Amino acid sequence: MDAHRLRNLHRPDVLRTRLEREGVPRTTLSFYRYVRLKDVQDLRHELYSEWEALGVLGRIYLSQEGINAQVSLPTENLEIFRTALDARTAFVNVPWKIAVEDDGKSFLKLAIKVKKKIVADGLADDAFDVTNVGTHLDAAAFNQKLEEGALVVDMRNNYESAIGYFEGAYLPKADTFRGAIDEVLGELHDKKNEPILLYCTGGIRCEKASAYLKHHGFANVGQLHGGIIDYARQIKAQGLASKYKGQNFVFDERLAERITDDVVSTCMQCGTKSDRISNCHEVTCNMLIVQCEACAEKYAECCSPSCREIHLLPEEVQRSWRKGRSTRSTKTKAINDPEGLRKRIREEEELLALNGTLHPELTTLIP
Ligand SMILES: [Zn+2]
Ligand SMILES: [Zn+2]
Repeated sequence: MDAHRLRNLHRPDVLRTRLEREGVPRTTLSFYRYVRLKDVQDLRHELYSEWEALGVLGRIYLSQEGINAQVSLPTENLEIFRTALDARTAFVNVPWKIAVEDDGKSFLKLAIKVKKKIVADGLADDAFDVTNVGTHLDAAAFNQKLEEGALVVDMRNNYESAIGYFEGAYLPKADTFRGAIDEVLGELHDKKNEPILLYCTGGIRCEKASAYLKHHGFANVGQLHGGIIDYARQIKAQGLASKYKGQNFVFDERLAERITDDVVSTCMQCGTKSDRISNCHEVTCNMLIVQCEACAEKYAECCSPSCREIHLLPEEVQRSWRKGRSTRSTKTKAINDPEGLRKRIREEEELLALNGTLHPELTTLIP
């Protein structure tokens, strides 16, 4: 089999147009399983051919320790996809988490990557028992424990919890999983005998976090099974009250799905109530930002006047400006100092008014 053909090489705008023309309803879902996988590279090629034929798009990580998949596919193919998964011993009955808010455009291409680990958690797995995980709780049980006063801890990064969280949750300031878990260990060091509840987007990070906390002496650790994604589905299906407020940050083109109408955050640029999340449209920046509609217009969907100046230039000038500049890595990074950002914006606006540009180097590029 020619491995080079098993990749999608089209540009994002081409892919977006193709998806828009497709015109079939799609379902976005995710699943993961820690399971020993053999011949991962071969498996990757098999899955790619199999799933591409079913119109599956998405991001899938495969490793010797298992699979972590976020996909979208034509709703009419869901049953065939289920059968195809169940036909493999490693994936039989793997639980799906189906997105509650879905415009069918969550993913533009199919990418299956072979990795060392299915979550970049930064933990040494041989240093603790990864199978000694916390108690899995469904939405009703999780709500019950919350009402009984259990301490709830958000295991996501700061930019994820910025736009939604469980009421009263401890929200780590860290922007990596490793940072968050160390912060939680430090913060809760005197609460090792109290009931602790963990949650994350789809449940996978809590598998590691709960085992790690138990290894460090926490006696009573519960975790939200299926994460916020499945919590949202369960409370809807069972008519329960949502103790999660706001939006759920997701790792696809949608950026977030709304769980409740509560707006728990403010625009990082002007401070008004907003939970509209976006990436800076200046491609070398691409920073995640909470930005209200008014600021999106004012800053042309950019994080700052200096990014806006570049973004509004003719495409060919932008291209020559970008030459030799490295774009940010694909790792999502967010603005985590809104106060600092507002200060920078003020300074940049002043400079701009004074000099007419924030990029003096542009004079050599503009004819
Ligand atoms: Zn604003
Ligand atoms: Zn920017």
